[in-house]
Amino acid sequence: MTQPEFAVAQPEHGELRILQLYPTAMNIYGDWGNTLTLARRAAWRGYRPVILEYNGGGELPEADIVVGGGGQDSGQEAIIEDFARIGPELVRRAEDGVPMLVICGMYQLFGHDFTIVSGRVLTGLGILDVRTRGTETRLIGNIVTDSEEFGTILGYENHSGQTELGPGARPLGTVRVGAGNNGEDGTEGARAHNVVGTYLHGSLLPKNPAVADFLLRTAAERRYGEFAGADLDDSAEERARRSAESRPR
Ligand code: GLN
Repeated sequence: MTQPEFAVAQPEHGELRILQLYPTAMNIYGDWGNTLTLARRAAWRGYRPVILEYNGGGELPEADIVVGGGGQDSGQEAIIEDFARIGPELVRRAEDGVPMLVICGMYQLFGHDFTIVSGRVLTGLGILDVRTRGTETRLIGNIVTDSEEFGTILGYENHSGQTELGPGARPLGTVRVGAGNNGEDGTEGARAHNVVGTYLHGSLLPKNPAVADFLLRTAAERRYGEFAGADLDDSAEERARRSAESRPR
C-alpha cells in the first residue's frame, strides 16, 4: 500500500502506530480506509501517524492500534497458518487493552472458529465469544445498527458466514436495517476488552467517527496517559452519515 503523508497539526503530541493485519489478503470493500481515517484523525489532533502493515512472516510489529479487514474465504485460508502463529501475541495484546478493529473476515477469525461451506474449520483466536458457519445465503447490502456505546453505526455488509454469539459476547449493536451477525437474532458485531468486531465495511470509520475516536482515545490514553488535541469538525461526516442512513438496503 502507498504510505500517504499526513500534515500533523501543531502542537505535536507524539506518534501513534496503526498496524493493519494482512492487507494483501484481507482488505476488501475499502477496509484500508479505516487505517487512513485513523491516521488522518490522529494527524488532525497533533499525533504523528505511523502506518504499519503485517502480511505474515516474522514478528508482529508493536502498535498502538490494530486493524484487520475483511477477506474472501480463500483469503482467510491463505493467512490462517501464519495467523495461528501470531495468534497468542494478538490475544495477549487484546487482553492487555490494545484497541483493535476487526471487520468481517477478520472478525470471524477473532472468534472461536469459522466453518467454511466446504467443511474446513478455520480455528480463530477466541478473543470474541462468537462462532461462525458458512452458508449458501449471502447477506448483502447497506446496514444501519444502533449501539449503546457509539450511537448509530452505518455501513455495508457482504458475507455468507453467519455468526452466533456465545454467553460471553456482547453485541456491538442492534440491527435496524440489514442482517448483521446472522439475519435472525438482530445482533451485529461483538465487543470484548477494547476490541470491536463487526461485519460493517464501507469503509466503516469515515462515516462512524465515534468508533474511530474510541480507538484513538484508547490508544493515546494507554500510551501517553491522555487524549490531547482539539475536537474535530465532523460536519462532512455528519452529512455522509445522513446520506448513508437514508439509502435503501
Ligand atoms: N468470507 C467471509 C464470508 O463471506 C467474510 C467475507 C468478508 O470479509 N466480506 O462470510
